[in-house]
Amino acid sequence: MKFTLALTAVLAAFTVQAQAQSAAPRVAADQITTKNGPLTVQPITHGSVVFTWNGKTIYVDPYDGAEAYAGLAAPDVILITDIHGDHMDPKTLAGLPVGKALMIAPKAVAEKLPAEYKAQIRVLSNGQRLDTLGMSVSAVPMYNLPEVADAMHTKGRGNGYVLGLGGKNVYLSGDTEDIPEMRALKGIDVAFVCMNLPYTMDVNQAAQGVLAFKPGIVYPYHYRGQNGLSDVAAFKKTVNTANKKIDVRLRNWYPAAK
Ligand code: ZN
Repeated sequence: MKFTLALTAVLAAFTVQAQAQSAAPRVAADQITTKNGPLTVQPITHGSVVFTWNGKTIYVDPYDGAEAYAGLAAPDVILITDIHGDHMDPKTLAGLPVGKALMIAPKAVAEKLPAEYKAQIRVLSNGQRLDTLGMSVSAVPMYNLPEVADAMHTKGRGNGYVLGLGGKNVYLSGDTEDIPEMRALKGIDVAFVCMNLPYTMDVNQAAQGVLAFKPGIVYPYHYRGQNGLSDVAAFKKTVNTANKKIDVRLRNWYPAAK
């Protein structure tokens, strides 16, 4: 009898493992302490990350297929930064259980999202803040330099976000260069900063921007460019040569890549 039970347990464990392996590959999550318990940081891919905090689940820029989110809790909040397909991805949204989610997005995104989401979208513009579900969400600028009309990211169209989660401030850069608004950020505990050419900025520019606002922790994300992945190790070296206190966390944001 004991043997049968043990065998059943082994088989059950094997089944769980087999299921996990059949889902999209995913790197281990991090946990960061907040006043309301841990903030779990689950890198997904490119500019997408899933946070769980205080019993709530937040999806940032869900992209590249719903399989990448398999097994994660359904989102309470979805943050979308911009209109480009690697941030606003209706196909991925369609495959996710988004029914209860509040979708927070800039106006340009809200206008392009499928009509079925209309009732659950809350538009935030640069400079606006929303308090919901115990968290705060502030929209901040993200744009290319110099500011020209035909830039890939013009000022005011997209949103970076600063989240207030149990006393910790979490910054998501969106697609930006090291704009004055980023450099002037204060009190950021955890930052997600893009670095990919030709769309955003190079690793040195990103490092200089990060050295200006000195987050406690920084994750390079959104680092796949036209010529492959940016040298995030060089980013870390540049940051830590100038400031050892910034915890630069290199994670694999492209686990599905061959
Ligand atoms: Zn992008």
